[in-house]
Amino acid sequence: MASMKHRVATLGSHSALQILKGAKDEGFETIAICEKKATRPYKSFGVADEIIELDSFKDFAMIEQTLIDKNAILIPHGSLVAYLGPSKIGELKVPHFGTKGILKWEADRNKQREWLHSAGLKLPRLFANAEDIDRPVIVKFHGARGGRGYFLARTPEEFKKKLAAHDTGEGYAIQEYVVGVPVYAHYFYSPLAEEIEIMGFDKRYESNADSIGRVAAADQITVDLSTSYTVVGNVPIVIRESLLPMMFDIGESVIKESQKIEPPGLMGAFCLEGVVTSELEFYVFEISARIVAGTNPYVDGSPYTALKYKEPMSTGRRIAREIKRAIETNALDKILH
Ligand code: AMP
Ligand code: AMP
Repeated sequence: MASMKHRVATLGSHSALQILKGAKDEGFETIAICEKKATRPYKSFGVADEIIELDSFKDFAMIEQTLIDKNAILIPHGSLVAYLGPSKIGELKVPHFGTKGILKWEADRNKQREWLHSAGLKLPRLFANAEDIDRPVIVKFHGARGGRGYFLARTPEEFKKKLAAHDTGEGYAIQEYVVGVPVYAHYFYSPLAEEIEIMGFDKRYESNADSIGRVAAADQITVDLSTSYTVVGNVPIVIRESLLPMMFDIGESVIKESQKIEPPGLMGAFCLEGVVTSELEFYVFEISARIVAGTNPYVDGSPYTALKYKEPMSTGRRIAREIKRAIETNALDKILH
């Protein structure tokens, strides 16, 4: 045992409730680092043994030494990536669960693509030249929060017309629009057991993409609706069992490739985000190299973790369990980077 007990810490947002609850279930004391206006859930749900308040997450550096003094292990999630960014995360001195370098690959769309492509995944085609558009495409503006302003086009002419109407001056990518249902696959890779686990699946509940279908096409035109993809929540799904072998295979290839591009590679929770077509092909348009909020419906475990574990196993708890095992076997250096 370490001379002083380790604590589990994370920023109070995104998937913190689940991470902190899971850590407590594994016997850790927990710390939530919260913005002043957002402490209430962490108090009310009783998941944090201690709350450290900040005016803004941007002031994180001010409390880093406090975390080190408290022997804290920091768990990254979407808000840490969004508020600190991969280069600040790279400079952190507080012990961090997982490989920091891999978050740089996640943050850059081109690097992501290179990684997923080398791993052999099916990706939506990218059109470098608008003249080549020969199928439905989705045009994504860089830095467009919640997919605001994204538009669809079918031909080079339609693209030009719509671009003129949308032009924000920002860069954009033209991506093949894959017709299918969204599926977000949650994984956990254990560097201690060298094993990949499927933790669950979800789809996002997006405004207004998920409400446009509630009005007739004629009405959509009348009120001049354009699609946005602001995440409001997450909906659990269970996929066709015959899709599982493929899901295991691609998760594993992504891990193997990550070990080549950014040693020691991706570890812990991650998510492949894509669309399953009617041919049952999974086109991946994004990877999250850390826990995703889509695991939040499974605080008490998912149908998949219920198969593998005797106790309720959320992704947050699974992270804490890996840390616990590492402490017990003196292998913390394998998981903290
Ligand atoms: P927030 O603290 O809610 O502003 O979220 C911080 C970051 O995590 C943002 O980049 C969000 O888009 C992302 N995020 C938060 N909740 C979810 C969710 N349920 N699904 C996907 N992404 C999320
Ligand atoms: P993104 O900003 O890349 O996360 O995309 C926002 C949303 O657009 C996703 O949640 C999907 O529902 C949808 N989407 C993104 N890319 C594609 C694609 N290539 N084909 C079909 N739907 C997509």
